[in-house]
This record gives sequence, structure tokens and C-alpha cells, in this order.
Amino acid sequence: IKWTEGLGWHEAQLVPYAPLSIDPANMTLHYAQTIFEGAKAYRQPDGSVAIFRPDENAKRFQASARRLAMPELPVETFIAACDALVKQDKAWVPGSGEASLYLRPFMFATEVGLGVRPANEYLFVIIASPAGAYFPGGVKPVSVWLCEEYVRAAPGGTGAAKAGGNYAASLVAQAQAAEKGCDQVVWLDAYERRWIEEMGGMNLYFVYGNRIMTPELTGSLLPGITRASLMRIAEDLGYEVSEGRISVDDWRDSAADGTLTEVFACGTAAVITPVGSVKSARGDWAVGDGRPGEVTMKLRKALLDIQTGAAEDTHGWMHPLG
Ligand code: PMP
Repeated sequence: IKWTEGLGWHEAQLVPYAPLSIDPANMTLHYAQTIFEGAKAYRQPDGSVAIFRPDENAKRFQASARRLAMPELPVETFIAACDALVKQDKAWVPGSGEASLYLRPFMFATEVGLGVRPANEYLFVIIASPAGAYFPGGVKPVSVWLCEEYVRAAPGGTGAAKAGGNYAASLVAQAQAAEKGCDQVVWLDAYERRWIEEMGGMNLYFVYGNRIMTPELTGSLLPGITRASLMRIAEDLGYEVSEGRISVDDWRDSAADGTLTEVFACGTAAVITPVGSVKSARGDWAVGDGRPGEVTMKLRKALLDIQTGAAEDTHGWMHPLG
């Protein structure tokens, strides 16, 4: 779907996957006015297909567009576009279970010119790809590197938007994590490099027995849809859930004295991933006994059961294809 100044949204098309032709002076290539989303369509037990919370992706996409000075795509148009693509690609939605059809809606400036200002033309596109189970061999805890040298986003920046530039800014730290032998980066706040924000592409949760806490939305971390969904599910299951500030020292000390029982990360791609060990400039430590925690696995099952249709969708989160 195209957007042009004065004309608005027009030319919705469903076309076979193909390369896009881009002018070398396309503004996106220079100034990174680009945003995206990630969503999944799951096969349901009766053979139908449903998308998990596309309305939330649509709303976050609008918020990202506002932050990047881009036009907002109406929620209904975003969902209708997802529906049209998934209907067309229905055969590519895996047969059952946690494998899914991953949807990647994105928007970028298409105007040609080298002036730094909001563009007057954009293209909204959705591509899709089947995604297998994230942990085909069973859920395995990840190791994380607490990055103090670089920040992903700062207050007033674009961290709460799903903007391409945030990910570009994160790559050097991801390489550093790999050098340290870690799977993922954990980002800290920009000012004090003390407060836990989020992981590379996932939000974090800290489990203290029956109490579950997630870093509050500071404006520099992404408001994850999985994060918000788990808050509801955890409450449904009787856990005491809160948002707050968790420091690196809190994490290390509560892991050492055993009050912190589990840590997990959550996002569309992996749903839930246990965090098993931490490396940082302030020392290394383990969380739990190296196996996925009980609360982590219980929440993972509860969410996946809703997504795959094994449990009742009490919150009305699944969007069936009409
Ligand atoms: N944080 C970042 C930086 C992400 O890229 C993602 C993935 N979209 C998340 C958190 C998790 O968000 P969601 O649950 O909506 O996938």
C-alpha cells in the first residue's frame, strides 16, 4: 500500500514476492525512516488459521509511525492487509503446534532526495515466512551479556518505537556478546547504566517465587505485546505481577541469595526463553539451576495454548481469518 502527500493511502496490492527496485537517493537508505512489526498466524485445532493480537501490532505500528514522523496506517487497514496475505499464504501456515507463519509488516520512505526532513511518499509492505518451533530440541536457557559500553536507546530517542535504527545501534553489542560467549545482549538505561531495560529482541521478566516483576516502560524500551499478554496471563494464574525498576546489583544479589528464582525473556519470535546465566563487567552469575524454571514453563505453556487453540481464548486475543 502506498502513501503520498495529498492523496493518502492508495494502491493496495497483493503481489508475488519479488525484489523492490530502489533509487540510490531513496531517503530511507540515508536517514533510516523505517519501522516494522512482527506477528504470528497459528493453525487452530479445527484447521482454521488465527493471528495473535494483530490489533496490538497495528496500534504499536501507529505509535512507531508518529515517532518517526510517518503517516499512520489505520488499524483496520493494517489488519485487513495481514488477513489478505495470510489467506493467500494459508497453505504455508504449519499444520499444528507452536510453528507458525511469521508476518513482517514494515513501512519506509520512498521519496528520492537528500534533504533531511520527513518524506512525502511511503510504502507499506507485509512479507511472511513459515517459522518452526524456536526450540525444536526442547527449551534451553540462554546466556546474556549485560552491556555497559553501548546503549540501544536513550530517553527522548526512538527506543519505544520499532524503528530500524534501534536495531542498527544494537549490532555492535550483539557481536560483543557473541565474543563473550553469550547468546544475547541485555540493555541498561542510558544515564546510569544501572537499570535493566530489555534484551535484544525481547522483554525481560524476573520471578521471585510467587511475585513476578518486569522493567517498567521508561520510553527507551519496546512495549512488547508478549510482555503485556503475559502480565494478564500471570495474573490469571494467581501470580502477583508488577512493573518496576530492577538494577544490575539487585539482579546479582537476589540471584545469589535465592530470592530471585527465575528470569525469562519474552517476544513474538521465541514466545518465552529462560535466562540461565549472566556475564557482566561486574562479575558473572547463574540464575536457577541451569534448567528452565517452573513458572517460566507454566507461563510459556499458558500463552502457547491460547495461540495454538489448545486453551480457551478468554481475552479475545486470537483474530480468526474470516
Ligand atoms: N524488545 C525488542 C527490542 C523487540 O524487538 C521485540 C520484538 N518485537 C520485543 C521487545 C518483544 O516484543 P513483542 O512481544 O511484541 O514481540
